[in-house]
Amino acid sequence: MLALKQVSKFYQNEGNVQLGLRKASITFNRGEFVAITGESGSGKSTLLNVISGLDKYDEGELYLNGEPTSYFSIEDLENYRKEYIGFIFQDYNIIDAYTVYENVVAALVLQNYPKEKRKARALDLIERVGLYKQRNQKTVKLSGGQKQRVVIARALAKDAPIIVADEPTGNLDAKSGELIMALLKEVSKDKLVIVVTHNYDQVKPYATRKVHLFDGEIIEDKTMLDVKPSTIKPSNNKPINLFGHLYFAFINLIRNPKKSFIVLLSFIVLLAATLVIVGDQKRSDTFSYTSHPFVDNVFDERVLVKKADGSFFSNPDLEAMYSNGYVKSVIHHDRLLDEYMHIAHGEDVIDFLYLKPASAAVKLKEGRLPETDQEIVIPQWHQNNNYETVAIGLDYLSSLNTDEAYQFKVVGYTLENYAIVHDSFLNQTTEKTAVESKLFTSTLIKPNLVIQIGVTIPHATHVQVNQEAVEILYDETLVNRFKLSRGFINNNRVGDTIDLTEGAVSYKNNYTRLDLEIVEDDKQFIIFPNTIYIETGNEVKQVAVILNSSLEATRFIESLDNTFIAYHPASYKGDSGPNPLTFLTFVLASMVIIFSVVILNIVIKNVYKAKNKDIAIMRSIGATKRDIRKIYILETLLTVFIATIGALMIVFLLGRYSMKQPLLQILGIKTIIFYIAIFLGLGLFIINGFLNKLFGKTVIQTLRGSHND
Ligand code: ADP
Ligand code: MG
Repeated sequence: MLALKQVSKFYQNEGNVQLGLRKASITFNRGEFVAITGESGSGKSTLLNVISGLDKYDEGELYLNGEPTSYFSIEDLENYRKEYIGFIFQDYNIIDAYTVYENVVAALVLQNYPKEKRKARALDLIERVGLYKQRNQKTVKLSGGQKQRVVIARALAKDAPIIVADEPTGNLDAKSGELIMALLKEVSKDKLVIVVTHNYDQVKPYATRKVHLFDGEIIEDKTMLDVKPSTIKPSNNKPINLFGHLYFAFINLIRNPKKSFIVLLSFIVLLAATLVIVGDQKRSDTFSYTSHPFVDNVFDERVLVKKADGSFFSNPDLEAMYSNGYVKSVIHHDRLLDEYMHIAHGEDVIDFLYLKPASAAVKLKEGRLPETDQEIVIPQWHQNNNYETVAIGLDYLSSLNTDEAYQFKVVGYTLENYAIVHDSFLNQTTEKTAVESKLFTSTLIKPNLVIQIGVTIPHATHVQVNQEAVEILYDETLVNRFKLSRGFINNNRVGDTIDLTEGAVSYKNNYTRLDLEIVEDDKQFIIFPNTIYIETGNEVKQVAVILNSSLEATRFIESLDNTFIAYHPASYKGDSGPNPLTFLTFVLASMVIIFSVVILNIVIKNVYKAKNKDIAIMRSIGATKRDIRKIYILETLLTVFIATIGALMIVFLLGRYSMKQPLLQILGIKTIIFYIAIFLGLGLFIINGFLNKLFGKTVIQTLRGSHND
C-alpha cells in the first residue's frame, strides 16, 4: 500500500510561496482505480508527482508498504520510480524520434527484460492498444490518441504496480478518451491506478474511488468499491547492462539522423583539419633541413652504412644490403653523392649540382629517368637550351678537364635541384671515382674517454670547427654530454676546456683536431667526420642504400645486425633546442583545438538541447542518471569512432591527391591516437557538462520546460 501522511508541498516562485499541496493524508491500495478531481490549480498534478517520486515534498511523509521514503536519496527515488511507477501524462510523453515499437521496447530494455522475449512482448502490447499496423512508424506522425496508446503500451511493458495518469485524455477527443480509459481499466487488474481528470464522467464507469481536491487540500474521498490492503510488489527489474545502453546509444544516433550527422560532421571536419595541419607541419619538421652538419647531399631515401669495425665491405656484406627488404638499391660509392659536381656543356660550366641516383624518388618534369650509366636527367631550367649531352666533373678541380669528366646523354628534366644519374654510374669501379671525402667513423662512447674528431675540408681556408662539432652533437641529442677538453691546431694544442655549447671558435687553418671528453654516457655510438680517406678501385668502406620508402629508415636501421652502422641524414632535425617548427605545430594544433572546443560546444549544446525531453522521458520510465550518462558516453564514442574513420579517409585522400604527402604515415599512429583522444575527451567533457546541467533539474521541471519551448 501507498500512504501519504500530512504531506505538504510549496513552490517558491520569485519570492512568492505558492501552495501546491496542504497536509494531504491518504492511503492507496493495490487493485484500486482512483479518480482525482478538482479545479485547475487545486494540486492534482502536485499530488501525483509526489506519489510518483517525480517531485520532492516539503512536509509530512510518504510511506511505501509502511516504510517512510523521506530519507530517500536521488538514487533511491530513481529506483522507486523504476520499480513501482508507470507514468501517463496529458501530453503523451513519448520519444518522437523513435518508432512505436522502439518506444515500447525501451521500457523493456530499461528493465533488462529477457532479450529473446522482448520483441514478442512489445508487439503483443502494441497489438493490445491497437497500433500493430503503425508499429514501425515514427511516433511523431501519430495522432494524439495513438500517442497516448503508445504511452499506455509502454507503461504496461514496464509492468509497474502503480500507474499514475495525469489528465491522460485532456488533449483527446471524446472517443479517443473513452478508448484510453477503457484500456487503463483493462490493465488495472492487480495494480493501483491513479487518474487525474477534469472530466469525471469519463472515469466514472471504471473508478473504484473518487478523491476531490480544492486549494491543495483533499476535501472529498469517496470509496465505491472496497479493496483489501495488500503490499505493492515492485516490478521485476534487473539492472540494465552494457547492451541495453548500447541499444539506446545506437537508436538515438540512427533515429535522429540530422542531429547525428551534424555532430558527426563537426567531429570529422575538426579532427581532419587538426590532423592535416599537424601532419603538414610535422612533415616540414621532418623533411625540411637547410643544411646538415656533415652530410652535404641529404635526400629522404639515402641511408649511409658502414662497417662497425671500419673495415671494407666484403661481398657478403654487400649481399646483406642488397637482400634487405627495405632496400631498393645500393650505392657503392656513397661519397660521390656528397660531391658538388660541375655540370658542363662543352667548355661551359652550366651548373653545380649534387648527384641523385635514379632509384630514389625523383620528380620528373619531362622525359624519362636514366637507364644506363651514360644517361642523365638535369634540372628543368636547362630545358630551353636543349643540351643533348652534358659532362660532369668535380667541384674542386680548378679547371674542368673534359677528358676526365663523364659525358652523358640528357634524357629528361627534373623539378629538383639535382643531376639524376643511373645507380650503376655510382657503383662502377674506376679510378676516376676516387676522390677525397669526408668519411664517417664510429666510436664507442665510454664516460671519461677522450675521443678525437678531426674535421677536414681540403680546400677550405676558413673552418668553423666548433659550430660543426656542436651540431653533430646536437644531432645525436647529446648536448651537454660532451665537453671540449682540448683543441688542437695542426697538432698544437690550443686552450683548455671549452664548453661546446658556448660560442663559436673559428680557426683559419686547414686541419683542426678537437678532442672531446665524454662526460656522460647513454648512447652506444655516435657518428661524425673523422679523417680524409681516399678510396680506389672496387673496395668501399661506406655505401649508401636507397630505401623503398624514406619512412622506413628507422626500421631498416634496426634490421641491421651490429656489424653495421647506419645513419639516415634526412632524420636530422637540427639542434635539439626548442625547434621553432615543433613549436609552431604546437601553437597551430592548440589553435585548432581551441577553435574545435568552441564549435563543438555550440553544435553539441544546440543539438542536444532538443534531447532534454527525450532524456526526461527516459528517466520517467526508469533510466537512472547513470544510465543516461552511459548512453551518452557510448553515443559520443560511436560518433567519434565513425568520425575517426571519416577524418582518416579525408586526411589520406588529401595527403595523397592534393598535398602529395603520406600524411597518415607522417603523423604516425601515436600522434593520430593522441588527437583522437583529445577530441573524444572534448566530446565527453561537453556532453558531461550538458548532462550535469540537465540533472540539476527534476524530471518534471525538464518536461514542463520542454513543453513551454
Ligand atoms: P492542478 O494539476 O490541479 O492544475 P497543480 O498541482 O499543477 O494543479 O498546481 C497546484 C498549485 O501549485 C497551483 O497554484 C500552481 O500554480 C502551483 N504550481 C504548480 N507547479 C508549480 C511550479 N513549478 N512553480 C510554482 N507554482 C506551481
Ligand atoms: Mg495538473
